[in-house]
Amino acid sequence: MKHQTLVDKNLEYVWHPFTQMGVYRQHDPIIIEKGKGSYLYDTKGRRYLDGYASLWVNVHGHNNKRLNKAIEKQLKSISHSTLLGSSNIPSILLAEKLVEITPASLRKVFYSDTGSAAVEIAIKMAYQYWKNIDPVKYRKKNKFVTLKNGYHGDTIGSVSVGGIETFHQIFNDLIFENIQVACPSFYHSQYLTEEALRDAVLSQIEHVLRTRADEIVGVVMEPLVQGATGLFVHPEGFLKGVEQLCRKYNVLMIVDEVATGFGRTGALFACEHENVEPDIMCLGKAITGGYLPLAATLTSQRIYEAFLSDQHGLKTFFHGHTYTGNQVVCALALENIQMIEENKLIRHIQKTSKVLDKQLRQLATHPHVGNVRGRGLMYAVELVADADKKMPLAIATVERIISECKRRGLMIRNLENIVTFVPVLSMSKREIKKMTSIFENVLLDVLE
Ligand SMILES: *Cc1c(COP(=O)(O)O)cnc(C)c1O
Repeated sequence: MKHQTLVDKNLEYVWHPFTQMGVYRQHDPIIIEKGKGSYLYDTKGRRYLDGYASLWVNVHGHNNKRLNKAIEKQLKSISHSTLLGSSNIPSILLAEKLVEITPASLRKVFYSDTGSAAVEIAIKMAYQYWKNIDPVKYRKKNKFVTLKNGYHGDTIGSVSVGGIETFHQIFNDLIFENIQVACPSFYHSQYLTEEALRDAVLSQIEHVLRTRADEIVGVVMEPLVQGATGLFVHPEGFLKGVEQLCRKYNVLMIVDEVATGFGRTGALFACEHENVEPDIMCLGKAITGGYLPLAATLTSQRIYEAFLSDQHGLKTFFHGHTYTGNQVVCALALENIQMIEENKLIRHIQKTSKVLDKQLRQLATHPHVGNVRGRGLMYAVELVADADKKMPLAIATVERIISECKRRGLMIRNLENIVTFVPVLSMSKREIKKMTSIFENVLLDVLE
């Protein structure tokens, strides 16, 4: 089909996510037709380096033969049955593998299909856990401790534990109340050292837990890096500190590794950096290598056992999605994990991360670069109008930079005035350098 016909049909029929369609309509859209390795190709035959890993999901590159084969192989047996009342082979094998590779505390796997659902499940499980143990003693437990600028998805429950003001304003009457503490982002704080910031936020959390533990179900957080709201990197020891507080005050620790899981931060899971053993972990995004939707909520044995009973209606977790444990996605996820291991992808990421870090930090002296931060292959360059005052660069200018990058063959995204680099995880050093040099040239040209 011709590009223009697709453009017309796109505008006629498709409502795009997180998009002001009134603005979208004014521009010629990019329509992706195919992918190969680290590149995307559009209907005009243009090629783009995938610097946002197709929204932080792509692991081994597009159109990977082995991943494609894993899908085809499963299709020849069966595409889908259901986990309601029956089980299936790939979902069993994947659950075993997930338990093997995640922190030792996690022993059971509950499947779903989006990160938002994985979080929704985590908060419902955590809430019911206390009611199952002792409905009288824990009757007041109905709140979570959350971080400002947290992002956990877009369903009502996951928005409720998120920390984005705009969402909370719009849906205020629908979301439930939580206890929000500060976002430990050093660049945006008034503290002189990262340790001082860490200790201040930890003591804020401790104060909340000490005074209100009877109302608190658990702490919900993205470990190490708060991604979707601006790639805020936590100070070293913060995650461990939260874990210690959860243990001290006996509340559940729920980590949302939907973005950070499967290598993104330079370890298979962000929790590994600080030897953290959460009660619940949410996984999604890169779990299938970025090919098909799958998510999982992993829990400890203690939580699982609190739901056990010999009567069906008692203590049961009443939650499930139609495609829970779908065979094709589970077989694909298993292959993805095997490839991560066989290709020694984590070591590769640790090496390419050094290149990305070095390249981006060279830009730090630019008058409009306020801050460069990140872990693994998850980096942000915060653009400012005035570096001393940390005043954001005008959004129109940031958008010009992003669209000029696209014009020169690099697909990246901005979160307000923060430009993010979240490339395909298997990207080569050369491709990483190409990505940063396109950006650098655009930056110099646009901000001339
Ligand atoms: C993307 C993301 C989600 C939501 O996942 P969806 O699949 O988009 O529903 C939740 N938590 C974090 C940390 C994410 O990055």
